[in-house]
Amino acid sequence: MNYLTLTPTTDFLYLSIQICLVLKNTGNEIFTAIRTLLGEAGKKILIVPHENPDGDAIGSAIGLAEIITNIGHTVLIISPGDYPEFLKWFSSEVEIMVFDKNKTKAKTAFRNTDVLLCVDFNEAKRAGDLEKYILEFERPKILIDHHPFPVNFCDYTVSEPSYSSTAELIFDVLKKINFEKYINHSAAEALYTGIMTDTGSFSHNTSNPNTFKVVSELMTHGINTDKIQSNVYHNFSESRMKLLGYCLNEKMEVFPKYRSAVIYISKEELEQFNFEPGDTEGFVNYPLSINNIVFSALFIEKEDFVKASFRSKGNFPSNAFSRDHFEGGGHLNASGGETNLPLNEAVEKFRQLLEQYKHQLKDTNF
Ligand code: 5GP
Ligand code: MN
Repeated sequence: MNYLTLTPTTDFLYLSIQICLVLKNTGNEIFTAIRTLLGEAGKKILIVPHENPDGDAIGSAIGLAEIITNIGHTVLIISPGDYPEFLKWFSSEVEIMVFDKNKTKAKTAFRNTDVLLCVDFNEAKRAGDLEKYILEFERPKILIDHHPFPVNFCDYTVSEPSYSSTAELIFDVLKKINFEKYINHSAAEALYTGIMTDTGSFSHNTSNPNTFKVVSELMTHGINTDKIQSNVYHNFSESRMKLLGYCLNEKMEVFPKYRSAVIYISKEELEQFNFEPGDTEGFVNYPLSINNIVFSALFIEKEDFVKASFRSKGNFPSNAFSRDHFEGGGHLNASGGETNLPLNEAVEKFRQLLEQYKHQLKDTNF
């Protein structure tokens, strides 16, 4: 890295940003272990993303799988459940097995695996039905993740919450252990997708120069970033578009006094719009584009619980809110949780809670 071209006034700030972000939590012994575990070809390696995997979880899993294949291992990704259509276009040919649909095969795969890699989650229960198999797995387990407050469930943990995405982190880990040479076009495409989706197309979590540095290095592999953007964000069904319109028009409540908003959708409404997994992805972000709104919630009625998503701006801790009231967690500005309350009571609980947070919401620095 060369900072000599920077002016003296910005030099210090720039360097301090750099120093505070690059793999600061992870000791060299962890990297040495990962290098040893993955360096010798011929192993069976299993990669697991979190439940309801998003672009970062799937992109990280595929990126890592491509690289590990190039080293000379046999790789399988097992997703706890199905994942959205807008994440099913990757050029990679690595198999993604959906646990729900292949339980017997997946259990056998866990038994036959030499090394387990967990990506983009910080506690085993975030892997849903795979929690049990992760916890019972007795050979080496590695975690690579950027969520705060990781639980110690792996033998080797790379946890770096200052990173925009697990995909960005994976790139730096590979570089650190000199495995960068194994990055191919498909890996670069997948890792780029992880960074792009976790930053909302580079609209949040992008204050670290490292993010763009990694992106520029991934782009040297000739990936088509316009096409990736289009594959992910311009790939929705007509009914999803209409569901979004309905939600914004009929199911959004804005509370200017609390600089907050909520959207809530029942199972019945989802059925009316031919709901497919992933259709509500991103809905929670829309209220944040309203002037002066810094906190947004989305409640979705599922089969036997209500799923909550939270987004915030500035220093309002959506993850603490989620942890304290909706059994969840996540990042400062993007978190999720759930509740067993009926949908209308979950929304009412949210409305009531806003009063309690009014000072914090008012003082949010955004
Ligand atoms: P989303 O709202 O997109 O489902 O999730 C946003 C963020 O919150 C993600 O980083 C995700 O890992 C985290 N998250 C979502 N749901 C839960 C949950 O039920 N528990 C915890 N601890 N984190 C969650
Ligand atoms: Mn992520």
